[in-house]
Amino acid sequence: MSRPAIAHIRLDAFRHNYRVAKQMHGGKALAVIKANAYGHGAVQCAHAIENEADGFAVACLEEAIQLRQAGIKNPILLLEGFFERAELPEIVANDLWIVVHAQWQVNILLEAKLAKPVHVWLKMDSGMHRVGLCPAEYSQAFMRLSEHTNVAKIVFMSHFANADNLNSQHTTQQIEVFKNTIASLNSQAYVTEFSLANSAAILGWPQSSANWSRPGIMLYGADPLMAAESKLCPVMQLTAKIIAIRPINKGDSIGYGSIFTADKETIVGVVACGYADGYPRSAVSAPAAVDGQMTKLIGRVSMDMLFVDLTDIANAKIGSSVELWGDQVLANDVAKTAGTIAYELFCNVKRVQFRYTDKQQSDK
Ligand SMILES: *Cc1c(COP(=O)(O)O)cnc(C)c1O
Repeated sequence: MSRPAIAHIRLDAFRHNYRVAKQMHGGKALAVIKANAYGHGAVQCAHAIENEADGFAVACLEEAIQLRQAGIKNPILLLEGFFERAELPEIVANDLWIVVHAQWQVNILLEAKLAKPVHVWLKMDSGMHRVGLCPAEYSQAFMRLSEHTNVAKIVFMSHFANADNLNSQHTTQQIEVFKNTIASLNSQAYVTEFSLANSAAILGWPQSSANWSRPGIMLYGADPLMAAESKLCPVMQLTAKIIAIRPINKGDSIGYGSIFTADKETIVGVVACGYADGYPRSAVSAPAAVDGQMTKLIGRVSMDMLFVDLTDIANAKIGSSVELWGDQVLANDVAKTAGTIAYELFCNVKRVQFRYTDKQQSDK
């Protein structure tokens, strides 16, 4: 017998979402599977689309090598490039693409002795002010890199700060800065390739379309724009079971800190999932579904357990299944009650059993 806390990962949904992203954007799509595919399992997710993915993007060399060792042959982009010079030989040996986002990386890349030229995504800071070369440095970096034998090809890229806010002018301004800077480059000799769009831009900013997109969160089925209707399918369903049921009287409190006090007779269900599994401790009255019926969390989430209100759930019993997020309960909605975003919920999932299914694959 094992603890009934399970992350069901539906790889067919992941593949469906990749196709949606690619079709909505219209160009090629790098599937962003950094941070262990946002907690879903990078190797499994990569295998699910390896026959059709234009490439993958990860945060670091270690994540890329894990994919290569699992037999992934598609292009892989390192989203922050290299962190130190010593990584370059392995980057070349594993045939990885690198983002170059800072002047210090340009310098190292030009001084290095590489066995083969490397494919560079040159990142511009068009207004997010996190990483990237500012427009004034960009053209010089492009000239130096494009003339150098260490560099195979250069893709122009930038990243948006506010693409999930359709009312913000910032995204339009970033697109302007990017396009103007690229137009001023002496890049005629180049078959120019560009990349701007993350998930929110694919879904909400068609004018950011370029020949490469970089969808992340939408591949996992969470819509960063929180649109009411979505073509996306949730990939992770996090479930656990009820392991205890206790009626409490009006005036009784439950759990640590006694933060919930019953204002009437209440039936409390104890669920085998807690913050050590990645369920956010800060969630307040988060939605959950017990045997398919919607209810809410009550009390404080503890390390291994949490409470749900069963008062209005007829037939709830020991062993009833509780969906913490997935199909009925959107991760976005749980995240909102915890002051965070679905990205963080997914990345934090651990200790639970991971069960992978792939409908199309098993139908064959
Ligand atoms: C993580 C990341 C993405 C994916 O963003 P989503 O919001 O998850 O779609 C795209 N581009 C870069 C540079 C990233 O770091």
